[in-house]
Amino acid sequence: ATPTAVVVATGELSKRGVLSARGEALETLSGVTRVVFDKTGTLTRGRLRLRAWSGESGALDRAAALEQASEHPVAAALVEAGDGPEVAGVEGIENFPGRGVHGRVHGCRCWVGSYGWVAEMAGAPPEGLVRSAEEMATRGDTVVGLAGEAGWEGVFAVTDEVRPVAGETVRALAERGWTVSLVTGDSEAAAQALADGVGIEEVYAAQRPEDKLALVRAWQEQGEVVAVVGDGLNDGPVLAGADVSLAMGAGVQAARASADFILLSNRLERIPEIADIGEAVLENIR
Ligand code: ADP
Ligand code: MG
Repeated sequence: ATPTAVVVATGELSKRGVLSARGEALETLSGVTRVVFDKTGTLTRGRLRLRAWSGESGALDRAAALEQASEHPVAAALVEAGDGPEVAGVEGIENFPGRGVHGRVHGCRCWVGSYGWVAEMAGAPPEGLVRSAEEMATRGDTVVGLAGEAGWEGVFAVTDEVRPVAGETVRALAERGWTVSLVTGDSEAAAQALADGVGIEEVYAAQRPEDKLALVRAWQEQGEVVAVVGDGLNDGPVLAGADVSLAMGAGVQAARASADFILLSNRLERIPEIADIGEAVLENIR
């Protein structure tokens, strides 16, 4: 039978806008040693916008045309800024989670996605674009690349707002003795800029969805109890592999389906409160 304490706690959580899918997760919380945060959409709001770009004329519109098929927040920023629908002759679009999109524009193969991934697919960019990308990265922006078979066409700086409570939440969790890590698919520069701003010391950048899960597994093998907070399409596997998983309410269905707790109103400050409630439940059970 479900202990009364769990029922009471679940009610308490729902009053705070937290949906609890699994009662046992409350007990697991009190043993947590590490919390892993995703970046975009989790520590940041996930409403990305294009800040600047550089490249051939029409590059933004071609990128926007390819991105219309993607649900990634980076894609939304490019679609909003460009004239995607007006670009004819786009076909065969394929999504690569945590990397970007590939497709054909007027029969030519094109890649739009993380700077690193596009460089793997299309080779190193010309000097001018490398310099632009470096400037963008230094400001902490996410750098997106666009290249076709004939070479690079442009780089785009996309930016997001940090959630105002992120720093406070990180501090509260560190005070509980949890190690706080940032694990993101974004570049080292963008990840480090965000981590510095919110006070996270451990940063793992350029992690593909499968790398994120491998990191969590390795920590678990060392005896750690790992909580993961995420929102995105690529966070489903790592949330499913966590000891305790928390998804942002604004996150995609795949993330919410794998989560023990859903932060319905996207309030990160609820996480230490959930941990407190978990401890109270455990005291009642003992
Ligand atoms: P995060 O860990 O920050 O949530 P993801 O794992 O979803 O990031 O993606 C990793 C990186 O891959 C992003 O920072 C972005 O640069 C790039 N990326 C992924 N999907 C797309 C896309 N559709 N268009 C452009 N870039 C993308
Ligand atoms: Mg995310």
